[in-house]
Amino acid sequence: MLNNSLKNIAFVVIISVTAITASAQKVKEPKPWSDEWAKTYQPFRIAGNLYYVGTYDLACYLITTPQGNILINTGLAASATQIKNNIKALGFKFSDIKILLNTQAHYDHMGAMAFIKKKTGAQLMIDEKDASVLKDGGSSDYALGGKGSTFKPVVADRLLHDGDTITLGNMQLIMLHHPGHTKGSCSFLFTVKDEQKAYKVLIANMPTIVTDSSFTSINSYPAIAADYAYTLKAMKNISFDIWVASHASQFKMHSKHKPGVAYNPAAFIDQAGYDAAIKDLVKEYEEKIKQD
Ligand SMILES: [Zn+2]
Repeated sequence: MLNNSLKNIAFVVIISVTAITASAQKVKEPKPWSDEWAKTYQPFRIAGNLYYVGTYDLACYLITTPQGNILINTGLAASATQIKNNIKALGFKFSDIKILLNTQAHYDHMGAMAFIKKKTGAQLMIDEKDASVLKDGGSSDYALGGKGSTFKPVVADRLLHDGDTITLGNMQLIMLHHPGHTKGSCSFLFTVKDEQKAYKVLIANMPTIVTDSSFTSINSYPAIAADYAYTLKAMKNISFDIWVASHASQFKMHSKHKPGVAYNPAAFIDQAGYDAAIKDLVKEYEEKIKQD
């Protein structure tokens, strides 16, 4: 009897400690690197049924279909309101988001994901290699982790692998596994159409190097150097008409588009800009591996 009571007490104590620990694990979003991350930007139609609905620099993309819409990336936690307003301003419904995707599980693209998923009930699909970082809100991230959650943890409904297809209505997106920046960074390739033309679009996750540590010293990511090498090579061989990226600055969006200008998908046809950006990243990678 006494034994049982003691067991019960011990059980209650364990439960309470667990509850306290869980509630103490608050999300601490780091201070944005740039004011341009939180600044608003007027949403616009990029090409066909692809729209820009992000902040000034944190790119979020809406792909519309007759069966509901796809949202790619969510910016910071506070970006949720901007995204919602941007979608409304374009004449679409926030509640029509059926699928949520992400190019890399960092807080500047994942910040509002848990909130938007809860509000819309959309299915979250994520590169398998980023699924565990998603679950702990970035605390296990090899570069930005170690200091608790930087975004609200969220569990994916579907895990994606290189070459997988995401289908909604008349749209089919191919997920391209582009690891390095995070273990499950990825890009998306798909075709959009307007009244005149079809465009093959690449939403590229550019493999920028985020860690100051030498690659060989990162025990939690032994494949990091090989992953970057793989991604840089794979990205050189993608054919597309239009490219955009996870950050507006990465594809020089503000030199290609000004708020209020007329619809002009041709502004985003820029193979030379893409090739130059990849070339710079190869150089950055080669410098980095010299550290080891
Ligand atoms: Zn990042």
